[in-house]
Amino acid sequence: NDTLQLSLADEDATIALGRQLASSISEGAVFYMHGDLGAGKTTMTRGLVQGLGHVGNVKSPTYTLVEPYELPERLVYHFDLYRLGDPEELEFMGIRDYFSTQAVCIVEWPEKGHGYIPNPDIDVYLAYEGDARSATLKAHSERGKQLLATISS
Ligand code: ADP
Ligand code: MG
Repeated sequence: NDTLQLSLADEDATIALGRQLASSISEGAVFYMHGDLGAGKTTMTRGLVQGLGHVGNVKSPTYTLVEPYELPERLVYHFDLYRLGDPEELEFMGIRDYFSTQAVCIVEWPEKGHGYIPNPDIDVYLAYEGDARSATLKAHSERGKQLLATISS
């Protein structure tokens, strides 16, 4: 199946989902993180990045649009396009070069870079559900489907 919906009771559940996905990534992967402010995009990214081997904090890049993590096994790039003005900026920073097949790229506010960033393997939609959150994951590639299969089983 291409879609998976989950309830995330608390912050730990959001981090655990990120970690679970991370543990199933073999090569690279591209995640788009959708959702309102405070929905949990950075929290889930923290789980992903830490699950891929990063020890330490994960916070959104503020002035640079991208935070790189050079981990022993792979390159991880966390983009936050919230403050992006003109999407042409992405062209100037050579955004496509970050999206190699081996890299893991996680993009918050991908809508702001529409047409300038490669397509995702998985779209993640985070939403408020009372005090908790829900996550809907949609796979768009073979790689994405395999990842979803490992967490829905
Ligand atoms: P975003 O990056 O989408 O703006 P953040 O991850 O920075 O959101 O912030 C999300 C906030 O919601 C944090 O305060 C976090 O502790 C909290 N949070 C994350 N996941 C859950 C959850 N499943 N249930 C309740 N609160 C959560
Ligand atoms: Mg964020």
